[in-house]
Amino acid sequence: MLLIKNGYMIDPKSGREGKLDILTAGDRILRIGAGLEEPEEGCQVIDAEGLLAAPGLVDVHVHFRDPGFPQKEDIMTGAAAAAAGGFTTVVMMANTRPPIDNGETLGYVLEKGRGTGIHVLSCANVTMGMQGKELTPMEELAQLGAAGFTDDGIPLLDGELARKAMERAAALDMPVSFHEEDPALIDNNGINRGKASAYFGIGGSPRGAEIGLVERDLELALETGTHINIQHISTREAV
Ligand SMILES: [Zn+2]
Repeated sequence: MLLIKNGYMIDPKSGREGKLDILTAGDRILRIGAGLEEPEEGCQVIDAEGLLAAPGLVDVHVHFRDPGFPQKEDIMTGAAAAAAGGFTTVVMMANTRPPIDNGETLGYVLEKGRGTGIHVLSCANVTMGMQGKELTPMEELAQLGAAGFTDDGIPLLDGELARKAMERAAALDMPVSFHEEDPALIDNNGINRGKASAYFGIGGSPRGAEIGLVERDLELALETGTHINIQHISTREAV
């Protein structure tokens, strides 16, 4: 048995929250309550004073850089870091090399993920090679276990293609995740266009580069009934 004492427990599903102790045996929670006593000799006790006790956290946007860039991160090191931080489910982005636009690469990451001890899910790409031209075999990738579709850091500029992708994702009841940044409006990406960038004459990204694409995709999501996720936005209008 294991008794976790003095932690601040958060359980979003039941809405229960507070300074509560948790008694477990094996993979079961036996009791949750204030001031639980050790029920027997040899029960392991963890003092969680100052810590949170919660169900495993979920991160829907991770880059494990595997395959392609294991010098930055791979599925084992990424999953170990996630677990150390309390995350037991992660969703990998699909901008690996090769990208996850095919069943073989998806199979590789999911198979390797199964050996990590946490739940490693993965998105597949929306377009082949993240080129924004041709949709991936979304139905096949869904069947093989993709968690959703995204080209991650590469905005989908062809609105008609975005609509088709959403229609197919909606039919599969799966989400599409977008990175909204119109390069046509951007001069020197990575810098906010404003007083400081004007003063230094270094260009930058105007607010409209984000707002315009978010508007387009919200409209398409409503029309097609698709669940979409919009990555790292920064303007009031987009929010
Ligand atoms: Zn990302």
